[in-house]
Amino acid sequence: MSNGDIDARFPLELEAPRFGLKKPEARFDVQGDMGDDARIATAMKNFVRDFGAVAATYMESCIHCGMCAESCHFYVATGEAKYTPIWKLEPFKQAYKREMGPFAFFFRTFNLKKRTTVAQLKEWQELIYDSCTMCGRCTMICPMAIDIASLVGLARHGMAQAGLVPHELWGVAERSDREGSPLGATPKVFKERCEWLADEYEVSIPVDKARANIMVTMSSIEIMKYPQSIVATAKVLNHMGADWTFRSDGYEATNFGMLSGNAQWQKDISLRLINAAIACGAELLILPECGHAYGALRWQGANVYGKPLPFKVRHISEFLAENLQNGRIRVQPLAKTMTFHDPCQVSRRGGAMEAPRQAIRALGAELVEMKETGGLNWCCGGGGGVVTIHRADPIRYKAFQIKMKQVEDTGAEVLTSTCSNCRQTFDDGQAHFHWDKTMTSLLELVADNLAEAPSERPSAVK
Ligand code: SF4
Ligand code: SF4
Repeated sequence: MSNGDIDARFPLELEAPRFGLKKPEARFDVQGDMGDDARIATAMKNFVRDFGAVAATYMESCIHCGMCAESCHFYVATGEAKYTPIWKLEPFKQAYKREMGPFAFFFRTFNLKKRTTVAQLKEWQELIYDSCTMCGRCTMICPMAIDIASLVGLARHGMAQAGLVPHELWGVAERSDREGSPLGATPKVFKERCEWLADEYEVSIPVDKARANIMVTMSSIEIMKYPQSIVATAKVLNHMGADWTFRSDGYEATNFGMLSGNAQWQKDISLRLINAAIACGAELLILPECGHAYGALRWQGANVYGKPLPFKVRHISEFLAENLQNGRIRVQPLAKTMTFHDPCQVSRRGGAMEAPRQAIRALGAELVEMKETGGLNWCCGGGGGVVTIHRADPIRYKAFQIKMKQVEDTGAEVLTSTCSNCRQTFDDGQAHFHWDKTMTSLLELVADNLAEAPSERPSAVK
């Protein structure tokens, strides 16, 4: 896919001044009152600390083939060399060569490798946060299997320690750690929402049951922007006769601690869910339609907890697929053509690629795949916290054009996915481009098409 292909169909006027306002200068965000030298030293110290043998091997094994460039939506959409994935690891490379590489002694002794400057940190902030969704597409394409997405995640740790996170992303991460939610969905707000939705939609929404087989979680975007997802969750689980609950001490699966690079906040946020599930004796914790929540708990949860989790963790799409297939969820056929947008963190990074497709087929819809799909799906451009960073909007919209073309090319009647962050990015892109396609939630499609009779096996946990 080339830059020309996408621009012709959905032209952008990124630089056009609106209402006579001048475009603001690019901004470089800092937190705390560290001086420049201390900030640089902290960032480099943490980059170096996160080097393991694997990261060092990655650094040495790049053959500079450039294949990763064509795999990255930000590079493809803009054609700008600085968005080449391997270039985003420049902070690591600089720190590695000077501090740990085979010639580090000479680099330092003879001052052959110059110290990092504040100007470089500014440049890196944009590369590490604004122009990487940690989607892992470059990782799939790289012939040397260099996991650029994970290394960008590690580089964010160093940036977070040095107080170099874009303000909006830092703000939602800090609020999430402090209040329990990045968007103000505090326990009180969440409980009130559940009560209101239960009345409004006449559906039972259990919150804070002392014991339950299944504990269900939501993302902040669903709670605040798509509350119909809460209703859909309740309808499906009640239809199955499941023994389930939300918990006000652990309902928010979004983990902006992870996206910002603050490892302590990531841990705090994950432990809330883990401790709540243990407190109610849940055998299964269901993660919501949220991509990075899946990676944070399903694949990193045991590391955070320090031992295997005493319950199963499943994404809602896996739960739906399994129970649609075994007949515990019964639906009326949905005779439509449908295309599926793979959320990067669930499909490519998480490995749960087949489940949503099984659910779509069980719904009776005809699945029309995008040309590059599953592990090679193009990112929507809003993951990794990018959708929160306003100054990244222009390149995010450019990258979104790739996605629009993919969807258009399928000709499908329905567009669905299983990530509320993708959904928000699609909604925003739809409004920006006056596009006529609306993203729907797979969970809500299932809930809206439930067969009327309830399950005959009320307490089954799957
Ligand atoms: S594809 Fe891999 S080996 Fe090639 S330039 Fe990119 S990171 Fe290096
Ligand atoms: S992880 Fe995704 S966004 Fe980041 S450099 Fe690779 S392809 Fe680009």
